[in-house]
Amino acid sequence: MTNLIDLTFHELETLVVSLGEPPYRARQVWQWLWQKGCRDIAAMTDTSKALRARLAEVATIAWPQVARVSESADGTVKFLLTLGDGESVECVLIPEKDHYTACLSTQVGCAMGCAFCATGMMGFRRNMTPGEMLGQVLVARQYLLEKGVALALRNLVFMGMGEPLLNYDNLVKTLEALHHPQGFDISGRRITVSTAGVARHLLDLGRTGLCSLAVSLHAPTQALREKIMPGAAKLPLGELIEILRQYPMKPRERLTFEYLMLDGVNDSLEDARELVRLLSRVKAKVNLIVFNATPGLPYQPPPAERVFAFQEALKAKGLTATVRKSKGADIAAACGQLRAECEGEGAAGE
Ligand code: SF4
Repeated sequence: MTNLIDLTFHELETLVVSLGEPPYRARQVWQWLWQKGCRDIAAMTDTSKALRARLAEVATIAWPQVARVSESADGTVKFLLTLGDGESVECVLIPEKDHYTACLSTQVGCAMGCAFCATGMMGFRRNMTPGEMLGQVLVARQYLLEKGVALALRNLVFMGMGEPLLNYDNLVKTLEALHHPQGFDISGRRITVSTAGVARHLLDLGRTGLCSLAVSLHAPTQALREKIMPGAAKLPLGELIEILRQYPMKPRERLTFEYLMLDGVNDSLEDARELVRLLSRVKAKVNLIVFNATPGLPYQPPPAERVFAFQEALKAKGLTATVRKSKGADIAAACGQLRAECEGEGAAGE
């Protein structure tokens, strides 16, 4: 059975036409899927009865199952989702001042093997389909609707489990579906894809114009990156920066670099100087994320004064550097750390 939420608009159109219906019917079905969050083909009442019957013979609508919801005191909501084959992923809703941001996973597990990340420790299991990635948005939006929350789900960040650019084709299909005017209709300015750096897809993603980019750097030198991000370091830092110099950007735009601060590992003033040197070749801003201590991982957050000194060292050299507040945003921003959080609560799903 085809899962309708796995189809691109074009694929849905092809399916509808193959069932003997005119192409415009696809637009109606698409609206039911994405705008109305419909989960039952029979409920698509403004389409013809014949189409509904034929569609139900070959297709279904299957969202990821919500296995568990955890609500943090600061309003962050974490979903443990079970996929069709029993695998689990997590997705997080983060409250901001006037909206929610959803942090989405792109793979079950991850091949990058970052030493500070519980997802990295579990290794790679499989890519998520477009429907599974989009299903996270459907689940999160439905949750807010059912709770009667007034704030809208406005921003999406692909910073959960997995390396998005290692699931590139499905990622682009997902971004296209998010943009579709008869669907979620979310603009690229409200979507951020976070990557540790995959040479063959970085510039292609930029050329799509479908999202903003955040680069998970976490180490200012190749030697340190090889230690704590062995998968990502296969693309040497110098080459990563050279590629990013060609990344398509608007005149006043700057690239965002995420830097997870680990006590005694990458938080010295010398590290700050190396970081300034490295990023002097691109238009950059830096998000400093303080590590969340995670059972089973040999890292600690640096003391607040060291984080401050590091930030000041960057700012003194003209580099914009923001420290993330310690709330749900930290969990989500630290790509993969959200899983660590949930594992701490005994919700690993493995
Ligand atoms: S931090 Fe991100 S890229 Fe690294 S192992 Fe975890 S999920 Fe993968």
